[in-house]
Amino acid sequence: MKFSIVGISKKINKVRINVPSRRTIGVGVKFIILTLFPEAFESYLNVSLLKRAVAKKLVSFEIKNLRDWGEGVHKSVDARPYGGGAGMVLRVDIIDRALRDLRLKVKDKRLKIILLTPQGQKFDQKLAVKLSKYKTIVLICGRYEGFDERIRSLVDMEISIGDFVLTGGEIPALVVLDTVARLVPGVVGKEESLVHESFSDGLLEYPQYTRPEVFDKQKVPKVLLSGNHAKIDQWRKAEALKRTKKRRPDLIKNA
Ligand code: SAM
Repeated sequence: MKFSIVGISKKINKVRINVPSRRTIGVGVKFIILTLFPEAFESYLNVSLLKRAVAKKLVSFEIKNLRDWGEGVHKSVDARPYGGGAGMVLRVDIIDRALRDLRLKVKDKRLKIILLTPQGQKFDQKLAVKLSKYKTIVLICGRYEGFDERIRSLVDMEISIGDFVLTGGEIPALVVLDTVARLVPGVVGKEESLVHESFSDGLLEYPQYTRPEVFDKQKVPKVLLSGNHAKIDQWRKAEALKRTKKRRPDLIKNA
């Protein structure tokens, strides 16, 4: 399967729009997840958009149990930290074995191996667009006290989903794969939704309304009921800008 450049960059309202290029239609991304808890992924990957995307062969998921590369009768993957301290640390030789096996099977240069860790690069929409260029993305989920430091030398990058600590890398992996998967052309029904979404055009999304027209004295803005699409468009752009300036001025400064 051929990959073309994903992520066109247009300037709209002086802010960059990062959306996957239409030329990539038909191209899929494969996610390989290394985890100690494969069952944590089952329900999320088996509903709605992602389930349909798998059925349409736009994305695929391979969930691998790290214990498959573990040692001894208990398939051990971790050990106590040198120098003492609480908890257990994932072993470098185990992760190395797993990645060697995967590299033998996945012979594609567009392979990205990612360690999920609170010390990694902060995940955002721009990074998701960049990742959607890859054909195979490996996500390594930590547990317990995290990883032996030397594991960092085996991966292409480290990602954090925010300045907080979760029990394991499974939720961060789901955050990354979900965000990247919906950028694969065809996964989200209407490509237009991706263009006007928060962060895609550098702004937060404009306010949305649906029925009822009046709720607790709050009325739907008249322009949205006018049927005048040019005016609606104008209103939405202005509202998106207003909201971004108020809530996330940093987005406008960094555009
Ligand atoms: N001792 C580690 C520290 O202080 O950085 C935290 C380990 S955490 C309990 C276990 C695993 O959860 C991590 O190795 C990582 O894979 C995952 N994790 C926790 N918080 C994360 C975050 N904000 N972003 C990405 N992964 C995270």
